[in-house]
Amino acid sequence: MKKSLFLLMLLSFTVATAQNTYLQCGKIVDVESGKIMSEKTIIISGNKITEIKNGYVAGGEKDQVVDLKSKTVLPGFIDMHVHIESESSPSRYLEAFTMNEADIAFESTVYAKRTLMAGFTTVRDLGGSGVNIALRNAINKGTVVGPRIFTAGKALATTGGHADPTNGRSNELMGDPGPKDGVVNSPEDGRKAVRQRYKEGADVIKITATGGVLSVAKNGQNPQFTVEEIKAITETANDYGMLTAAHAHGDEGMQRAILGGIKTIEHGTLMSEETMELMIKHNTFMVPTISAGQEAARLAKIPNYLPPVVAKKALEIGPKLNATFAKAYKKGVSIAFGTDSGVSPHGDNAKEFIYMHKAGMPIIEALRSATITNAMLLGEKELGQIKEGYIADIVAVNENPLDNVETLIDVVFVMKEGVVYKQ
Ligand SMILES: [Zn+2]
Repeated sequence: MKKSLFLLMLLSFTVATAQNTYLQCGKIVDVESGKIMSEKTIIISGNKITEIKNGYVAGGEKDQVVDLKSKTVLPGFIDMHVHIESESSPSRYLEAFTMNEADIAFESTVYAKRTLMAGFTTVRDLGGSGVNIALRNAINKGTVVGPRIFTAGKALATTGGHADPTNGRSNELMGDPGPKDGVVNSPEDGRKAVRQRYKEGADVIKITATGGVLSVAKNGQNPQFTVEEIKAITETANDYGMLTAAHAHGDEGMQRAILGGIKTIEHGTLMSEETMELMIKHNTFMVPTISAGQEAARLAKIPNYLPPVVAKKALEIGPKLNATFAKAYKKGVSIAFGTDSGVSPHGDNAKEFIYMHKAGMPIIEALRSATITNAMLLGEKELGQIKEGYIADIVAVNENPLDNVETLIDVVFVMKEGVVYKQ
């Protein structure tokens, strides 16, 4: 009795002091319809959008009013492919031997903050050391400032494959990593690895279906999983409600990933027309990561920045992404916005909008891809739009991005879950 009375008092106290936020918005991009709404006020209570009113409305004395009358307001962006723990640097390959988990953790907080301040309120992390799981938890707890994270933990590869954590090491240091470390060589290994990730707290599963550019290995595009292995992985991931992603540059590996039931193909660099049709047929999404292709090719031209075996692949594969994306988009392949930030600098995520637009995608469609499409893929029904009942992830830029896409790289206001982080 005493306890319930106390709770009641606490509840009425909370209601009485509840502070709402009023965002007075000059323009809002309705990403769903593609229309601009002018002179509106978004009312936020707690972490939710409760009302959108016509004109500029001010709240009560205790309410917070934010003047965005000269700005254009959009839903917070979602990036489907980042590596939040690290960033390209000339010492990248050495760092595997010099950095402890705590070092990675401290660095990752810097990248997380930068990502949020760039307007990316949600990201999908597609592989790191496993610190990304702790980072997600710390952000959810409010200890660290950063975007909402859906993480793969460690990616899954085959022996010697892209994301085998011991590639390029001396025989002594190579060892024989297994499913726990993310190296699988049979359907059984695949099932075990997925369950291991689930146990560790990962949200999604990432596999490396083909060779990759930045691993110390010769081939950047060969298939590295069998269809049976991929099927075992996706079926198990589905059991646990985990979304699946496959890194893929080469066409054969891509086809196997699609047939194996993978939901998003990352990069898709050398995708043939036949594979594009297969993507459409199986409702598989392409995550273009043009930013990574551009950055890898740029780094390859800096002397001694990348190991020679890596530089060669970066020059061959990187620049091909733009044209493949253009072709796939035109053909009707579904596109999910993603950058592979970590290869390119964290916080530059919005440059992808410019690359996508240059390759022929209308700005509104690129925005839709980074909001509605990605929220849908993540199974988040209250993210990706500015609507009553949705979570208040809201950003603002100086100009109407439909007239000037470049304005998206300069986000001036960021709200996540109803909390203002940048103003
Ligand atoms: Zn990646």
